Amino acid sequence: MTTQDQTIEAAGAPATPRRIGAHVGGWQVVDDAAARDVLNPADTRERVAVVTRSGPEVVDQALEVARDAAPSWGRTSALQRGAILARAAEIMASRAEEVAIAMTREMGKIIAESRVEAQRSAEFLRFFAQAPKLQAGATFPLGAPDEQAFTLRAPLGVVGLITPWNFPLSIPVWKTAAALAFGNAVVLKPAELSPWSAALMVECLLEAGLPPEVLSMLPGSGSEIGPALVDSPVTAGISFTGSTPVGREIVRRGAHAGTRMQCEMGGRNAIVVMADADLDAAISAIVNAGFGTTGQRCTSSSRVIVERSIADEVTERLVQAASALSVGPGLDPANDIGPLASAKQLDDVLDALDRATSAGTEIVWGGSRLSEGRLAHGHFMEPTLTRDRVDNWFAGHEPFGPVISIFEADDFEDALAMNNSVEYGLASSIFTRDLAHAMRFVHESDTGMVHVNRPTVGAEPHIPFGGAKASSIGPPEMGGAHEFYTKSRSAHVRWA
Ligand code: NAD
Repeated sequence: MTTQDQTIEAAGAPATPRRIGAHVGGWQVVDDAAARDVLNPADTRERVAVVTRSGPEVVDQALEVARDAAPSWGRTSALQRGAILARAAEIMASRAEEVAIAMTREMGKIIAESRVEAQRSAEFLRFFAQAPKLQAGATFPLGAPDEQAFTLRAPLGVVGLITPWNFPLSIPVWKTAAALAFGNAVVLKPAELSPWSAALMVECLLEAGLPPEVLSMLPGSGSEIGPALVDSPVTAGISFTGSTPVGREIVRRGAHAGTRMQCEMGGRNAIVVMADADLDAAISAIVNAGFGTTGQRCTSSSRVIVERSIADEVTERLVQAASALSVGPGLDPANDIGPLASAKQLDDVLDALDRATSAGTEIVWGGSRLSEGRLAHGHFMEPTLTRDRVDNWFAGHEPFGPVISIFEADDFEDALAMNNSVEYGLASSIFTRDLAHAMRFVHESDTGMVHVNRPTVGAEPHIPFGGAKASSIGPPEMGGAHEFYTKSRSAHVRWA
């Protein structure tokens, strides 16, 4: 047994629930009368956290604290800000195992994925510690020889961040790190299901020396906190990640308030498999990107579009792979797929499958809830494969669960058209050895991120991350974050 497995075994014992209050200039005491429980989705008998339910009045308090703190944080040199983020990265890396176990307990993903997420989150902090050093402006001549104009980027001021539960640590980290690096004060509203991971991030940043007033965190309901955060004139920008309907609602409100918006939303991402593809690589990518994180990734490959001549072979191999996956609690390293994050999430996926099958979708593997034995108290379901038609309702619906829909295409043109036929446009991929097909796909797939001979998932801190169509509004994140978190200023200078 490895040291890590021993840690997990120790963590398997029922733990005292973590108490999480709002952080506004300091940690607030949890008000039990207004608190809410977070339950372990692998075993709902375990209460993992007791969490404050912040109301709109706390939003006003947090925005006031942030508004007062923003000018001096914005004036702090980018190098000093970066030094704090770099320290936070090392603290997070040193606490990675504790943070990973918290994530798995809180939202269910398997421990191997939580470990990767903890380490990647430290990497995001390291990247944004350095990123502002590369901010470059442009210079321009003016009318006289002793005049010049140049551009610089200034912080927005106070930004509101609204995050989902599927990457409970790394999404709060990549937004917060970017916002702070470029000199903004932050009010973060994490998802109701995952305040613990977000609280651990706040702890790492505070321990690294971040002034507490610069980062507030408000656990609570989206529909209560969100509107107050978006509508306030103090909020200069909102960066949201979550579902498309909520993102669009936030954008409508933000437009009214004149707030800068960045929304990363849903996806119905496809992997196209051509007859000349390396099938071993394609199958492994599909299984990883379709069933990883129980299919609850915005970039999940929930559609597979296969050239007809190899459709039966690909389907057979996917059935074999799906049947070999072990479903169970994420803290047990033997499991490949954990629970869905909540009872509602599981119900939504099963309801969507019901609706899909009555509209003509065929289930070729799985499709049912799992509740026998040790799975009795969790939100588990079988990894599921469906055979579908492009004109069916389900073809355009994001399942956000362990469901992969297989479609047959006549040829490259047909596959490309199917890939582009949905309202979403987050990520796509093609497996082929034909360079012409690969390059046409890169140019004509209407998604913000395109992969060739790689899964649709994955994010690198230095590469812009974002989608097209119904998947994104506003500039990309990560490598493109400076566009959102700073505003352009043109300076016109005469020195004589
Ligand atoms: P969600 O839209 O239900 O919630 C996201 C966040 O918005 C939560 O913090 C929630 O509390 C808050 N919220 C809810 N109603 C609100 C309102 N009226 N005003 C303001 N905030 C509100 O999404 P979810 O279920 O947490 O996450 C799943 C979705 O997120 C999927 O569609 C997935 O594809 C998407 N997602 C996208 C990306 C990306 O980068 N494109 C990444 C991860 C997840």
